[in-house]
Amino acid sequence: VKNNSAIRMMFEEGKRLAAQYGPENVYDFSLGNPNVPAPEAVKNAIIEIVSEEDPIVLHGYTNSNCGYADVREAVADSLNKRFGTNFSFKNLIMTVGAASGLNIILKSILNPGDEVIVFAPYFVEYNAYVRNYDGNVVIISPDTETFMPKLDEFEAKITARTKAVIINNPNNPTGVVYDEATIKALAAIMEKKEKEFGTSIVLISDEPYRELAYGGVDVPFVTKFYHNAVVGYSYSKSLSVPGERIGYVVIPDEVDDSAALIGAATIANRVIGCVNAPSLIQKALQYCIQHDVTVDLATYEKNRNLIYGALTEYGFTCAKPDGAFYLFVKSPVENEKEFCEVAKKHHVLVVPGSSFACPGYVRLAYCVSYGQIERSLPAFKEIAKEYGLCK
Ligand code: PLP
Repeated sequence: VKNNSAIRMMFEEGKRLAAQYGPENVYDFSLGNPNVPAPEAVKNAIIEIVSEEDPIVLHGYTNSNCGYADVREAVADSLNKRFGTNFSFKNLIMTVGAASGLNIILKSILNPGDEVIVFAPYFVEYNAYVRNYDGNVVIISPDTETFMPKLDEFEAKITARTKAVIINNPNNPTGVVYDEATIKALAAIMEKKEKEFGTSIVLISDEPYRELAYGGVDVPFVTKFYHNAVVGYSYSKSLSVPGERIGYVVIPDEVDDSAALIGAATIANRVIGCVNAPSLIQKALQYCIQHDVTVDLATYEKNRNLIYGALTEYGFTCAKPDGAFYLFVKSPVENEKEFCEVAKKHHVLVVPGSSFACPGYVRLAYCVSYGQIERSLPAFKEIAKEYGLCK
């Protein structure tokens, strides 16, 4: 629990500074909370559902731990249409966001002491999710040139205890998107190791940022490239509804012991403590899914162009993000926490890379107003000057 508090701590610090200096003079890039409003369709669907539906049914427990069958059918149809897959509603479980989707899969597959591989830098809550079921996280060190998976180290670290591999595409905190060749290379290694050890290794693709990919970049759908792949998805970012807590997992028929895994995950969806996905937002989703509604991505892309362009111009080194809404910046000093403190003196709040198992870097969440980014640029320039990155 202690290890998970760094991002929130920065956010709290931001609120303290805003109270002292005024919100317009504080540049808080700490939290990945969408700043683009949810589409009108979400509001309209909620109003219509609340007005029309029987409240006893609508506000009651859903009739299945997996979620409403017609909502799952709509999700399956949409995936099949977009990715050429062949899912039915039976392959889908509606979840309380991506967070609980990951938890129900891990609860279903892990025995104490089993290993789960992650690629640094990664979303630090994976540590907590894996430890919830007495699993051990095995970290692949970061390739700081490309932020793509280090394949040699990956192959070397797979053991007979490896039960799962988590990837996150597009990636938090780097914004990097793993391409098809990378997914195929990961799959080939996992298949080889499954044969060598006679085990089953599940590839869990955590995809809350799937729709946030810029310039037409392709985010491969992993179930097409690996037989033992499951996908965890969330509408937190694509519909800007993180507070509504809604997502799903897809468990294809091709997965080893698929029926058993779906059965276990269905029960896990109840017993991990969140007792299935919220009813109202599930119902509201149906309309949004059927009409391909997503938030206006142009806002994030514009923000990315502004902040990436300016920071690289000032001499900072950053991975160019193709997706999500984060910029991962190399700290000009080895200890990035020191850099965070210097940034704070200029009222700029960023999160240390050690919170993502990648010290020496900081993360900026640019899901903030364009105006905030514009106002923050002189502060970034001052910081760059302080480190001799520019004049
Ligand atoms: N996975 C990653 C990589 C995230 O960044 C987040 C949230 O920011 C989550 C999972 C959890 O998302 P959700 O709100 O859908 O539970």
